[in-house]
Amino acid sequence: MSNLPSHASPTFVAQDAPPHPVEELSISTDQATILPSDSRVDELRDNAIAQSDSADSDRGDVTPAVPASLLSPSFTPPATPGGTFNPAKLLQQTQQLSHTKAPKLLPCLPEVECIVRARIPTTTGAEMFLHLYHNNLDNKEHLAIVFGNTIRSRSLDKVRPGETEMDRMIRGAYVGTLHPGRVSSWYDDGNAEGAAGDGGPVSSERSTATESSPSQAPLVRIHSECYTGETAWSARCDCGEQLDEAARLMSFPMETLSEMASQQAVPVPSNASGGVIVYLRQEGRGIGLGEKLKAYNLQDLGSDTVEANLLLRHPADARSYGLATAILVDLGLGVDANPHGIRLLTNNPDKVRAIEGANREVAVKERVPMIPLAWRSGGKQGIKSLEVEGYLRTKIAKMGHMIE
Ligand SMILES: [Zn+2]
Repeated sequence: MSNLPSHASPTFVAQDAPPHPVEELSISTDQATILPSDSRVDELRDNAIAQSDSADSDRGDVTPAVPASLLSPSFTPPATPGGTFNPAKLLQQTQQLSHTKAPKLLPCLPEVECIVRARIPTTTGAEMFLHLYHNNLDNKEHLAIVFGNTIRSRSLDKVRPGETEMDRMIRGAYVGTLHPGRVSSWYDDGNAEGAAGDGGPVSSERSTATESSPSQAPLVRIHSECYTGETAWSARCDCGEQLDEAARLMSFPMETLSEMASQQAVPVPSNASGGVIVYLRQEGRGIGLGEKLKAYNLQDLGSDTVEANLLLRHPADARSYGLATAILVDLGLGVDANPHGIRLLTNNPDKVRAIEGANREVAVKERVPMIPLAWRSGGKQGIKSLEVEGYLRTKIAKMGHMIE
């Protein structure tokens, strides 16, 4: 297992794999059967050991059980130089590790700064503000998708030395609405209601708008980038659907929600205090798109999603959430500025503790489950594929997800 803190969202610098001849990249039938299946683990382990022994004794070079090019050298300690590795044993070891370790939390939060924010009208008619963040841990542009008008970024609103009013408006540090001819970032002269309440600069304190409704903690979803599920129509996972659903719940006007709540047995979370989707650029549970695609091939060879990652020598879940916590604090949703806490949209109970941060910088008041659309609608809507069913089953059985 890696020694990297699980909440650091580190950048894993891609390392060049050593060049391999094409024939080495192909998995022979024998090697393909190394993939674990419960009933065959012992047999496979013996095979792998036997292979390793014979390779050592017969010749100087060795035949790895899994081609070296499939391994990710940067993530986990490399195999003994020139040696083989035993997938069955590795799987056992890493499974023990990954399921007994409590989430490791960074002692202090990373630094984040909102660089720019812009209004995005969406195809559903709802409007959101996209916030782009830089941070001191990696070079990725993590995002916060903010619904509602009460949630503001403190680092964005801060005055930067030498900047003009136009500079502030261009980077999105304005109140109210932009319109042609507007000259001040602080006063929305076209819309009196949008102007800052006390007529002064936006203070770093939270606006009082949410304090009138103490039961209303904003909805928050921490979402990790999934190119295949969100952009390339993949039915191997439900990431695209979950992102859509989170946005849907956060963009309903209050009246619609109470109406829905009265019609449905399933409780409908309200969004009076707005909502935030923190969108972390950690593709494929943090292993990157290339490795994720290899894992898909291993799944087609018979592994489930957890086993495939472990066979590639990645932790089952390499994602980290320190950046998400820091972004929520910057958006005024931490305990220092938000007495109501947040309601976290997730099926993963481990995420609740992870998001709260080592010093409980954020308080999760409630976990709101996300039930797959296909299950809620009795199969009439949502993703239909063998792959997504297997994926959801694995999440529940091996990763502690709770989907009722
Ligand atoms: Zn996905």
